[in-house]
Amino acid sequence: MTSTTEADLAEGLRNREIVLHYQPKFSLVTNEIVGAEALARWRRPDGTLLPPSAFIPLAERTGAIKDLTLQLLAGLVGDLGSAGLDEHLVVSLNVTAQDFEGDMFTRALLGAIAHGVLRPGSLELEITETQALSAGTRIREQLRVLTDAGIGLAMDDYGTGYSSIDTLSQWSFTTIKLDQGMIGRMLGSSKDATIVRSSIRLGHELGVNVVAEGVEAMVQQDFLAEAGCTLVQGYLVSSPLPLDEFKRFRHHDRRSLGMSPGLAHMALIDHVQWRRQMVRYAIRAASLPSSDPGRQLDGHPVLCERDCAFGRWYVDANASPGATGTCRALAAPHADLHRLGKGLVHRVRSGAALHELAPMLSELKQVSNELVCLLEDFEDAGLCALYDGATASR
Ligand code: C2E
Ligand code: MG
Ligand code: MG
Repeated sequence: MTSTTEADLAEGLRNREIVLHYQPKFSLVTNEIVGAEALARWRRPDGTLLPPSAFIPLAERTGAIKDLTLQLLAGLVGDLGSAGLDEHLVVSLNVTAQDFEGDMFTRALLGAIAHGVLRPGSLELEITETQALSAGTRIREQLRVLTDAGIGLAMDDYGTGYSSIDTLSQWSFTTIKLDQGMIGRMLGSSKDATIVRSSIRLGHELGVNVVAEGVEAMVQQDFLAEAGCTLVQGYLVSSPLPLDEFKRFRHHDRRSLGMSPGLAHMALIDHVQWRRQMVRYAIRAASLPSSDPGRQLDGHPVLCERDCAFGRWYVDANASPGATGTCRALAAPHADLHRLGKGLVHRVRSGAALHELAPMLSELKQVSNELVCLLEDFEDAGLCALYDGATASR
């Protein structure tokens, strides 16, 4: 068959010939398969398997996409539950703007959650920025309802739209997927490399997951690990697989990467930003008269050591069985910094002048230097594990 018609597609849908294959998403932190992207394939009665490019554009043109997505959702919910994609995976499904014309799809999802057949945390919807923008505010509201219910939302092909930053700020995205074109170019172009690194940092600061798509070579994966990317998807790990093969593939052993030098680097930047914000807060607030109400305002960085950008990452890293001595050594100076930070805020609120804060600020600098040195050691050890320790096993 060379081309498909609307009638072929209608019949294919009636006969449930469109199936899902699953492409693994791999964590560079835990070295495990932590999720998958569900990708549509048309299994024709003659045994051929058609890629989405052969029928998704047709389905979008004819409006059949809505039925197709509902059918795929039902299949995915079945696979997630009875067919044994277990609790810890997050599986994503591609959706289009048309799926949100009317509220059938949203109601189907909310119904599945209400009936206990879908755990919202196990599903993520992928939509491209271009699709999202073409749909206007109604789709944004529906997606907000779904993310409020705990379903993830990924911006697909990030970097190919024309105003990604604007869209990121206004939509409830929980993940960005770096476009495979950008990943393919990043090692040959310093501009693309910078864009990839900055996009990973942006995702980190926004508190969203960053998945690199189309990772085909180990050198690309190493670059991404070094840049602080934690999730990769691409032919290097695996091409999309039928459900049974995916389930078997999940449990293969993989090379251990050790700690991620990229995450250590992120922690370094997080800490430098935290310290700067604390010093800026103290200097600005202490310049106000001692009874000025402005002294009671926030403006300081996160005070709780478990909740700062560094702490959120560190609590897990330190609790992991692979935590090294260098990793554990970060705990004391990090706790000291937060103790000093809380002390500074308390003194500012009680009306202390800048010269009275000077000893605490100087102690803050000392402890900060100690932490920076340890983090640099930690990052260097990660780079050794990535490049030196791993060469033997490749
Ligand atoms: P996408 O969502 O960006 O999906 C990623 C595509 O890249 C997939 O192609 C995948 O097989 C391919 N890919 C994965 N790793 C690599 C790699 O390392 N190198 C290269 N060169 N390619 C890689 P696929 O399955 O042909 O899907 C193409 C597009 O079709 C998808 O792009 C998505 O936009 C659309 N699509 C797929 N399934 C569905 C679906 O169920 N619903 C809707 N609405 N669209 C779908
Ligand atoms: Mg996708
Ligand atoms: Mg994509």
